[in-house]
Amino acid sequence: MNDSSQQDTSIRSQVMEPKLFRRLLILACVCFALVWIIDELSGIISEFDATAYPICIMAFALMYVLSRASKHHNQSNLHLLTYLVVAGYLISTSIWHHMGSNALFSNAAQWLGLNYVIAYLFLEIRRAVPTTMLVLGATLIGHFLVLIKHHSLDDTLGVVLNIAVAHSVYIVLLWTVIRLRIQSSLANTRMNLLENYAYVDLLTGLLNRRGLEKVFTELEIDQINTNTKNYALLLIDIDYFTQVNDQYGHTMGDKVLRKVAANLNRTIAPEDVIGRWGGEEFIILTLDRSPQQVLDMAEQLRSIINQMEVDDITGVTISIGIGFSNLAKTRQEVFNIADSNLYEAKQSGRNSVRCSI
Ligand code: GH3
Ligand code: MG
Ligand code: MG
Repeated sequence: MNDSSQQDTSIRSQVMEPKLFRRLLILACVCFALVWIIDELSGIISEFDATAYPICIMAFALMYVLSRASKHHNQSNLHLLTYLVVAGYLISTSIWHHMGSNALFSNAAQWLGLNYVIAYLFLEIRRAVPTTMLVLGATLIGHFLVLIKHHSLDDTLGVVLNIAVAHSVYIVLLWTVIRLRIQSSLANTRMNLLENYAYVDLLTGLLNRRGLEKVFTELEIDQINTNTKNYALLLIDIDYFTQVNDQYGHTMGDKVLRKVAANLNRTIAPEDVIGRWGGEEFIILTLDRSPQQVLDMAEQLRSIINQMEVDDITGVTISIGIGFSNLAKTRQEVFNIADSNLYEAKQSGRNSVRCSI
């Protein structure tokens, strides 16, 4: 399955939060109770509703209890059951109201469209389509069977076909709205993905320079150092990397770069930040460590890279220059200190770590 159809599938199976589901159940109980009271007080309650209202309220209350008791976050089966209670009520009340001999039209029928709106709003999209088809089928067959008892075939077909057309329009319109929602969700996901790509170096999978700048800003390691942050920058450069390219080719050079990046990334702590500064240079930001801890970490990185093997290439080495925030006023100054220490590490024979303390 490709990326876009995976995203499509995940949007189609998005389900409502259990909390929201329970709130809707409470709302359903309140609405049914209100309509029941109003119908009772005004004396227009039908025999059917007098029985159906309490049954529906009890069913919603039961769903509420089951939802609370369920440990699963995905309660899509409870959603479906609740939906079937509502749809079952709306269809059967309409059918009941059509049972009389002169009942070609009943007010209850006007509410049947809700069945499709509720399905598309609250069910998983992949379930909404077959469920609405089933509901449409039950609506048409139920109304046909009850109308044909007292009316001619022509009259019955007139009403049933009318329902079929009107309800099909509901379904098609809702389906179109949902398609638009899926498309705009997909476009958003793709936009986020592209934005992430802009911050990631594709060869090594580490942050690129832009990504590092973003993280520095998020961590408030801004250009102007307010001295409130205690951090160190480690500038890392692979030694004699030109020779690796010359001797083994650029593809092999890329492989070495990826392996160095992966080893550095694996060795630092989760709270440290690493990125590819450019070419075969990396930068690590580490927060709130003592100078000795930073030096130990740099030594560990140097030693791990030195022991690394990439196919038959061994003896890859790195030089590291460190800059501490307490010795500078701005991030640029910290970086400059790390850079000059890196230069010193190179001058003193490479495969070494230098800092200003
Ligand atoms: P040293 O740093 O020890 O002074 O020597 P060096 O040979 O590493 O020198 P320098 O830093 O100047 O050279 C970096 C080389 O890295 C040059 C360039 O071809 C190579 N390089 C930069 N980016 C990539 C890349 O993405 N893939 C590969 N294969 N090589 C790269
Ligand atoms: Mg370099
Ligand atoms: Mg180099």
